[in-house]
Amino acid sequence: MIASRVTQNNIHQIDLKFISQRAKQCGGSGIASIGRLAKEYKAIDLAFGAPEFWTPEALKQAAVRAIDDNINQYAPLWGIGQLREAIAKKINRSMNVTVDPDREVTVTCGATEAMQNVMMTIISPGDEIVVFAPFYENHVAAARFHGAVVRYVPLHPTEWSFDRQVLEAAFSDRTKAIILNTPNNPTGKVFTREELLEIADLCLKWQVLCVTDEIYEHIVFDGRQHVSMLQIEEMRSQVIVVNSLSKSYHVTGWRIGYAIAHQEITDVLRDLHEITTAGAPAPLQIAGVAALELPDSYYQSFREEIQQKRDRLLQILTGLGFVCYQPQGAYYIMAEIGSFGFTSDREFATFLIKEIGVAAVPGSIFYSKDSQQNNLVRFCFCKLDSTIDAAEVRLSRLVA
Ligand code: PLP
Repeated sequence: MIASRVTQNNIHQIDLKFISQRAKQCGGSGIASIGRLAKEYKAIDLAFGAPEFWTPEALKQAAVRAIDDNINQYAPLWGIGQLREAIAKKINRSMNVTVDPDREVTVTCGATEAMQNVMMTIISPGDEIVVFAPFYENHVAAARFHGAVVRYVPLHPTEWSFDRQVLEAAFSDRTKAIILNTPNNPTGKVFTREELLEIADLCLKWQVLCVTDEIYEHIVFDGRQHVSMLQIEEMRSQVIVVNSLSKSYHVTGWRIGYAIAHQEITDVLRDLHEITTAGAPAPLQIAGVAALELPDSYYQSFREEIQQKRDRLLQILTGLGFVCYQPQGAYYIMAEIGSFGFTSDREFATFLIKEIGVAAVPGSIFYSKDSQQNNLVRFCFCKLDSTIDAAEVRLSRLVA
């Protein structure tokens, strides 16, 4: 059989049999494709969660020093000991929880790799994973890619609360894990301790894991506290934490993340991590130690700065006719577009990029394909004041 042929305009086409079934149903990142469209039309990007904040000086200097000190070869594959210890120390400092850096912590290439490897570690085909919707798209993509059936539990605005009975009905003896993301992308919801206890009850009843992505742990507003499932003592051996330095220290390009799991899960996760990435960047792991040693005042001033940006963008969007749900954490605003007269969120987002020059993410990207949800868009506010100013000028051309 001819697997590849040359078309009229001389471009090689390959037979789609080369592409795996799993890859075909994967489809890539919806957020990234909006980002590409934004670039093409030179739109101001309030879609992609890439922070426009400077990386703290201490981290940059530590990275340069590490490269100068010739820390440029493969790091120990599970993560440099110093960084694993710094992660454990930081968790102890901020959550009062003890984790074993040698047996329970694995350094990964960002939270993205951590989540992929966790899913690879725990899912057998046909296992079910419970996910709150709206969800961060990579979570569902990772679960489905590894063969899981996903059960969605809706979060209802304005507080993005869930119905305990609906959650309960999503659990069964086929459930392997629930994926939690707090503070939450895209809603900004910060799960309370009471809510975590309700989720924990079900995890304990059904002997199910809780995989919790806490990448926005330090971005909480209005005096709220981030609570981790790791702090619920009864859940200690059933929790897998996924986290990274990306958002807390403005180093999304460094690709330093980590997973914390029971040592027997960690053993398998490390095997998979070894064969997928062979470790995270060595000099940046050393610099990551400097990040985790930053004083509490660093997080405090970051929170204050980002809360001001939230308030500013909320004010702009509300003034234009969006109905906004005030985020409790993370750096995104979900906004209803009903007053603009579009038939779908995708149509609105495309119009916004091409005609207004501002990019936002269509909310349906954060819901399952069969959801009817199509009247929300997500705006991101981890941007310079000058970017938000420029977006305000362009958005003022929108007519509600
Ligand atoms: N998890 C959530 C909830 C996110 O919003 C993002 C990025 O936006 C990531 C993970 C990606 O993290 P990393 O850069 O560490 O791979």
